[in-house]
Amino acid sequence: MHIPLSQRDRHPRPQRHARTARQTPNPPLRPVLISIFLAIAALASAPAKTSWASGQSDTNHPQEKQTSAQTSAPLPAWPAPTPEDHARAMRESKALAEQARAAVGNTMRELETQYFLFSTDLPQDEAMMWAGLLDRMYARLSDLFGVEKGANIWLGKATVFVFSKPGDYYAFESAVFESDPAGTAGRCHNRSDGMVVIAFYRQKQDMDFATLLVHESVHGFLHRYRSPIHIPSWANEGLADTIAAELVPKSSWVPNEQKRAKTQLRQRGNLGGDFFTTEHIDAWQYGVASSLCSFMIRENKKGYVAFINGIKDGLGWEESLRKNYNTDAPTLVSAFGRSIGIKALTP
Ligand SMILES: [Zn+2]
Repeated sequence: MHIPLSQRDRHPRPQRHARTARQTPNPPLRPVLISIFLAIAALASAPAKTSWASGQSDTNHPQEKQTSAQTSAPLPAWPAPTPEDHARAMRESKALAEQARAAVGNTMRELETQYFLFSTDLPQDEAMMWAGLLDRMYARLSDLFGVEKGANIWLGKATVFVFSKPGDYYAFESAVFESDPAGTAGRCHNRSDGMVVIAFYRQKQDMDFATLLVHESVHGFLHRYRSPIHIPSWANEGLADTIAAELVPKSSWVPNEQKRAKTQLRQRGNLGGDFFTTEHIDAWQYGVASSLCSFMIRENKKGYVAFINGIKDGLGWEESLRKNYNTDAPTLVSAFGRSIGIKALTP
């Protein structure tokens, strides 16, 4: 039984200011959660199907729904994959690489690192550079969340495709995931059994591409971290851009987003009203999300990790914020506002 858990955001091509996700509408949350329970129960005893049906559901649910739906029973943690589970996932990853070759020609080759299976038609030295960046992203997040050194959180390995031509990326996405990738530069596909596949085309600007590579891979990491429970959009995008900015310090992408966001915050006096609850934050709110995430980590790193862990263990974000970060949204936003010189900032 296969129920796709989520297909994370799709980043449009280089117009970075318009990173509007195009997602299919969500079905009501409670039936989805029940389905996920059933799916996980089924997956515990049955091998995963190899079909991908990305784009049909997304777990980027509004938070009030998540909170209310999780008061009855928490979702279970990811089951520890057996060696057979890993082997099966790796076979599936390699089959996807074959599909990529079939879709775009034989120029694709594979590079396997400790945690990633990287398929690309880029030159070998460049491929190694990007694969190295992915390993650093993994190490950084493992360090932040206290993942045991050397532990592999993936099912098999995270499978990453980078195509040198946009057209090949579109062809691959259409052929394998049977969904329309138009207007995106990269996508992270997270499947209900834990498989993570990320595909991109190589953007012209090195630093833009590096930022996008790290950003999407952070989403994949958060999918596999601890439990299948989804981290809300504001926190998910915030961490993705925070880690991207940290690992790609030469990129002006995130700092520019943050500058634009600050101007908006000054004019509006708030985070948009729906920042914490929207299914997917607006393009201008990315800079808010990363600034707020950096602020939270800077102020109380241990509390931030406990906050994410709390959500992953079944608490709603507000409850986890209260219990693990010892604050509520208005107080957090007000303190964040003061840290960037904006008085009386509200959610
Ligand atoms: Zn994102």
